[in-house]
Amino acid sequence: MNAIEKNVDRIRFAHLPTPIEEMKRLSAELGGPRLFVKRDDATGLALGGNKTRKLEFLVADALAKGARTLVTAGAAQSNHCRQTAAAAAKFGMGCVLVLDGREPDEPSANLLLDKLFGARIVWVADRKDRESTQREAFGKLDDAGEMPYFVPYGGSSPIGAMGYTFAVEEVLAQGIDADWFVFGTSSGGTHAGLALGARLFGYRGKVLGISIDESEAWLKARVSALASDASELLGRRVEIRPEEILANDSYCSAGYGVLTGAEREAVTLFARTEGLLLDPVYTGRAAAGLVDLIRKGCFRKDESVLFWNTGGQPALFAEKYLDILDRA
Ligand SMILES: *Cc1c(COP(=O)(O)O)cnc(C)c1O
Repeated sequence: MNAIEKNVDRIRFAHLPTPIEEMKRLSAELGGPRLFVKRDDATGLALGGNKTRKLEFLVADALAKGARTLVTAGAAQSNHCRQTAAAAAKFGMGCVLVLDGREPDEPSANLLLDKLFGARIVWVADRKDRESTQREAFGKLDDAGEMPYFVPYGGSSPIGAMGYTFAVEEVLAQGIDADWFVFGTSSGGTHAGLALGARLFGYRGKVLGISIDESEAWLKARVSALASDASELLGRRVEIRPEEILANDSYCSAGYGVLTGAEREAVTLFARTEGLLLDPVYTGRAAAGLVDLIRKGCFRKDESVLFWNTGGQPALFAEKYLDILDRA
């Protein structure tokens, strides 16, 4: 444990460090910069993904506060909910998930796994009722003495962001001096952690989030605030300004979870050049952005780019995305 980390509770269960692999065939195919992938789809915990790193800190906080039930919310195919349900099972806690939409006749992919882990599911037909439904579910658990703990949406709170703050220390110790980190960004915790970690551990490259569903302006404000607030947990506030946050929102106009030709192409390209699996919602979209930026010549040939594969592969098998495998 290093001097900075001793200020925050953490339970280590992620499979770390995750490997870094060079993607030579993809780089040659695109005529682009040197490309590497950080295999955060291999973090362990129920098929892995970026939420594992956040949950090391969130579960530690929940247990330190005496909680016995994890409560969180998300989309029906939320990776965050799947991994939170698994973490709850692993630590002998209950789990309640507030999911958007209506219960499908045949649960598939992440939703099937939520059930396998024993999570209780509450459906919210209208997204605007999400918060009130959450509060109600939380209140009921509280009244029943189940000691609920609220895990924020996407695990993106200052505590959750710690996971990616320390991921920067990890990656720097792996000796790959990439000029760019590129990854999908949505609720901002991954982005904030990487931005703060870059500052604290002296990463000199650029930290570029490809937006999955939010505007650049929203991400700059959200991620800078989250990163600055997260720094306080480590003992001293570090101010990260919105202008310092790099976010590209050119690839999300289709809306959250809507699969377009761009994601399909990226998923297929990574599969066929590198034998790597991306997911339709997050890493497929982020990779589609990366591929487009490479084609537009946004990276110099002598630069290197580290793409964070943040996971999400179970969604490849979700009913609504089965055509990605079929039509590819
Ligand atoms: C949640 C998620 C993201 C986005 O991370 P945030 O911290 O919410 O911005 C990216 N990729 C995958 C696979 C995810 O599940």
